[in-house]
Amino acid sequence: MSKSISFWQKHDNNKACKVYIIGGGLVGLSAAHFLCRSDKNIEIHILERDEICGGASIRNAGFACFGSPTEIIEDVNLHGAEKTRRLIQKRWDGLQLLLKMVGEDDIDYYQNGAYELIEREKEDIKGIIMEANAIVSDVFSNKQVFSEVQLPWLSNNRYACLYNHLEGQLNPYKLVKALQQKLKIKGVQFHFNVDIEHINFDTNQCHDVCGKRYDFDKLIIATNAYTKDLLPMADVMPVRNQVYVTNVIENLEMKGCFHVDKGYIYFRNVGNRVLIGGARNQFPETEETKEFGNTEALETYLLHQLRDLIPNHKSIKFEYKWSGILGVGKDKNPIIRKINDYAYAAYKMGGMGVAIGSIVGKEISDMLIQDIQNG
Ligand SMILES: Cc1cc2nc3c(=O)[nH]c(=O)nc-3n(C[C@H](O)[C@H](O)[C@H](O)COP(=O)(O)OP(=O)(O)OC[C@H]3O[C@@H](n4cnc5c(N)ncnc54)[C@H](O)[C@@H]3O)c2cc1C
Repeated sequence: MSKSISFWQKHDNNKACKVYIIGGGLVGLSAAHFLCRSDKNIEIHILERDEICGGASIRNAGFACFGSPTEIIEDVNLHGAEKTRRLIQKRWDGLQLLLKMVGEDDIDYYQNGAYELIEREKEDIKGIIMEANAIVSDVFSNKQVFSEVQLPWLSNNRYACLYNHLEGQLNPYKLVKALQQKLKIKGVQFHFNVDIEHINFDTNQCHDVCGKRYDFDKLIIATNAYTKDLLPMADVMPVRNQVYVTNVIENLEMKGCFHVDKGYIYFRNVGNRVLIGGARNQFPETEETKEFGNTEALETYLLHQLRDLIPNHKSIKFEYKWSGILGVGKDKNPIIRKINDYAYAAYKMGGMGVAIGSIVGKEISDMLIQDIQNG
């Protein structure tokens, strides 16, 4: 005979709402952060298949950015001016929110500015500056955000260099660790090496690959590039980005974040080394994948690009390499949605999850808290 629960237990008004979050990346951690701040009685569990966070959040380049001029113009062609403006506002608000959630010193945040290098012969530089400034003018109170500057070390006159002083750089690993630490203190329970295989939305249960069952009152799916594994209809595609870090370069003059080829290639200083990554648009046949890995062809391509971009340092070589998986789609808007009264999902963070991850986590947790409030 089964042992049914008592009337008293069933009507326990003090019973905590058990929230499971699948995915311990920036979005999952941010959602947990804002759930902790609510006045509701919530018990939070994070289910993460890796040992810390296996996704993009600790593998990215650490650009705290909202968009380079040509990226913004490309976004306008994709979404129209108003939607692009809203997207940039969201990225900017997200960055400010993130810096409130963690201390700048905890995450090695430096506002060294960002630069886009554009080939003079191919583009109308003045036109690009005017158009990009017009789009962001509302967000930044009509200030001229982008302007052309000369960089002494960029002796290659092929490129015009468009500067924006508002963007910064950080250490993504320290960011995730700092958030985790804060959440642990607040009682959030982390379950690492838990790979969720299936969710039953009718019974409010999910199962991991070992068959273990997790009963939830509410569920947040924050699995970004891997969301299709759990929600097959999700409109998100995994793509890979390879990242490389050079040897220590004596007298390295470059400082800040740099974008080339509409942001497909990015590089920055990490102390006296240079990190470079991207170029997936040049190698779609190998990079449209959710498998980790580095390829010789892309490595050679990026090394060649870097030697061309910083010609004073021809002896550079790569000492570190890794890869990460992005969740992208037809447009740049993240997806934040309610699946039913108990389950919510946030994914498709694209290439700017550092900027929007915090605010997306807040929005999904607000949705959930609102539903608890409404009973
Ligand atoms: C190489 C690279 C460079 C990038 N550079 C930048 C940059 O400089 N600036 C920027 O703004 N953005 C950058 N991005 C994008 C940014 O990192 C992401 O948009 C952001 O980290 C996404 O956060 P997330 O929490 O949604 O996903 P993730 O960090 O990917 O987290 C999802 C988590 O879910 C877990 N998971 C997935 N499936 C399951 C399952 N079934 N069960 C349990 N756990 C599961 C994964 O292990 C992972 O930890 C970069 C991305 C890459 C790959």
